[in-house]
Amino acid sequence: MASMAHLQKEKLRLQEELLELQEKLAARENNELSLSLQLQGQVETLKEKLLEQAQEISRLRSELGGTDAEKHRDLLAAENERLRQEMKALEGELRELQRQQQAPCQDCPHLQENAGLQEQLSQLQREAEEMRAKLVELDLEVQQKTNRLAEVELRLKDSLAERAEEEERLSRRLRDSQETIASLKSQPQQIKYIIKTVEVESAKAKQALCETQSRNQYLQEQVGMQKQVLKEMEQQLQSSQKTEAQLRAQIMMYEAELERAHGQMLEEMQAMEEEKNHAIEEAFSRAQVEMKAVHENLAGVRTNLLTLQPALRTLTHDYNSLKRQVRDFPLLLQETLRSARAEISQAIEEVHSTNRELLRKYRRELQLRKKCHNELVRLKGNIRVFGRVRPITKEDGEGPEAANAVTFDADDDAVLHLLHKGKQVSFELDKVFPPQASQEEVFQEVQALVTSCIDGYNVCIFAYGQTGAGKTYTMEGTAANPGINQRALQLLFSEVRGKAADWDYTITVSAAEIYNEALRDLLGKEPQEKLEIKLCPDGSGQLYVPGLTEFRVQSVEDINKVFEFGHVKRVTECTNLNEHSSRSHALLIVTVRGLDRSTGLRTTGKLNLVDLAGSERVGRSGAEGSRLREAQHINKSLSALGDVIYALRSRQGHVPFRNSKLTYLLQDSLSGDSKTLMMVQVSPAEKNTSETLCSLKFAERVRSVELGPVSRKAELGSWPSQEHLEGDSPGSTASSGRGHASPSPGQLSSRSASIRRKLQTSGKLRPIPL
Ligand code: ADP
Ligand code: MG
Repeated sequence: MASMAHLQKEKLRLQEELLELQEKLAARENNELSLSLQLQGQVETLKEKLLEQAQEISRLRSELGGTDAEKHRDLLAAENERLRQEMKALEGELRELQRQQQAPCQDCPHLQENAGLQEQLSQLQREAEEMRAKLVELDLEVQQKTNRLAEVELRLKDSLAERAEEEERLSRRLRDSQETIASLKSQPQQIKYIIKTVEVESAKAKQALCETQSRNQYLQEQVGMQKQVLKEMEQQLQSSQKTEAQLRAQIMMYEAELERAHGQMLEEMQAMEEEKNHAIEEAFSRAQVEMKAVHENLAGVRTNLLTLQPALRTLTHDYNSLKRQVRDFPLLLQETLRSARAEISQAIEEVHSTNRELLRKYRRELQLRKKCHNELVRLKGNIRVFGRVRPITKEDGEGPEAANAVTFDADDDAVLHLLHKGKQVSFELDKVFPPQASQEEVFQEVQALVTSCIDGYNVCIFAYGQTGAGKTYTMEGTAANPGINQRALQLLFSEVRGKAADWDYTITVSAAEIYNEALRDLLGKEPQEKLEIKLCPDGSGQLYVPGLTEFRVQSVEDINKVFEFGHVKRVTECTNLNEHSSRSHALLIVTVRGLDRSTGLRTTGKLNLVDLAGSERVGRSGAEGSRLREAQHINKSLSALGDVIYALRSRQGHVPFRNSKLTYLLQDSLSGDSKTLMMVQVSPAEKNTSETLCSLKFAERVRSVELGPVSRKAELGSWPSQEHLEGDSPGSTASSGRGHASPSPGQLSSRSASIRRKLQTSGKLRPIPL
């Protein structure tokens, strides 16, 4: 509102100023108009005067008389005088105009234009000044000419007077002479003489006349010159007229300029007026909008206030009740704390008892799980045969020889097909790993066997197959992708750690090699020394190897050190490791000994990880000498292993453990409730198909027996107990009626006796006492 009022005041003030300016402008315009009218009038009169002068000049020109020059001069002088008077008057007027224009007009917005006009006026003044100077010059000239004319006229007068006098004198003389002549005529002699004298005197008069005539001519020339001067003056008058016309044109121009300036000023005034009105309108509408918004806000605030009042009331009410609650809070808190404490201690008590119950249940479950696991392993068979097909490698070369000859069954992961000599032969094993199977996947199938050795079971894992089929890859693997050996030890460590609360475990490792039926210690000081397998002197019938080094390992680093050590030994002892390793069996024997702190029960489990010699049939290809011997030994030991496994699976009464060093050494790890895994490695390459066929046939042979009628019969009838094994110690008693399957609760005592026996015989030189 205030801004509106202010704006309106401002508008009024501006309008007043505008009116004043308009008045001033009108007055100035009037002034200028009257001045220009006056100037026009003066110009008109000047024009008339000029016309008169021109007429006068023409009149003078027509008269051209010597005596008229004087009149003309007077006329010119009078005219000059009059012009001077007019000039003065004009100057006065000009001064007046200048004074008016110089009058201060600070409020006038057209000060600049006035300055321009003043400039033009001063220009005009200067021009008028110049004109005046020219007029003065002309006056001077006219004066000079008039003076000269006066002189000439004087001289003319004098000469005319002289001439008149002369004529007078001459005419008098002529008269005298004529009288004399007449008198003389009467006096003839004397007359003759006088005539002669007169004639002589008349010649003189004639000469004087001639002189006078020439003088007259000179005077006429003078008049001609005067005429010339007059002509020049006429020309000057014409140029004055021209100047005057120019001045008039300039005046017209100034008038037009004035007109334009006036129009411009009016336009500007108009525009200013419009702008001002527009601004006022805009401000007014804006103010109205703002006012409206403010009103709306006000209304909103009012309604808010109205709605807030009840909220405030409820808030105050709430605050009061909260204050009351805060006052009562400590008491309430103490009460609540008391009851909470009681509840918590009760809950803790309940949790304790639940925990105890859970622990009991957990232990029972653990026992059950172990039982179930064993049952599962038993159901799956204690001897299992897996097949692993390695990928085609660069070593296989290229072309048809390196073509893939092995395919798999999409629905059955235990079946593989071999294309041999154009015929497809299918094999069924317990499980088949295709080339893309990872070390991790392979180990997952093996880890149940590995963990069972913590529970006191003996386990054997063999890698069987021709050289280059992937045996060492599966057992040892690479540093970046380790095989079963390292993974098994890692698993044992973590399992043992998990049981550390109730059990004390020690894990030891030995590494041995069987080459040409000679057993050597890979971790010993004397690797060349041939070790013997002997019966335990305690009469338990267990076997042991005196002098076989055993390292205790507690971490992966320890294992790595042991492996490194064994590997270095093997390298330094052999000239060609690859060849040598393919002709020898490498054994890693891991022994896990446990003591249950609560019951005092001791267990020993052995994990035998065997990388067998290459199964290829070298002997048949005409090898000689040491190669032939090697091949014979390998064939013998591998077929002995096959026979043993076959005998075990078919549960024959006699198991030929002693037919090779390998089976003899592993006797107690193969028999009884031990678990065995045969990993048959094959190459998929076309060129290896006959060896692959042999390996798969071996695999199928050792696997299929259990399912045959004989094995079933054997299962029902006689499963050899440890006491029935080949190489039984003297004094051992037979118990041929006992089954091979996991012991029933009634058989637990005999199993623990077996475990005890194992505990006694394990370890090289320090049998653990019962
Ligand atoms: P073996 O011990 O039976 O003579 P190797 O284990 O030395 O055979 O394997 C021969 C080659 O094949 C090695 O270079 C090995 O890395 C590669 N190899 C074997 N099995 C696999 C596999 N499953 N994946 C990748 N490479 C393999
Ligand atoms: Mg190898």
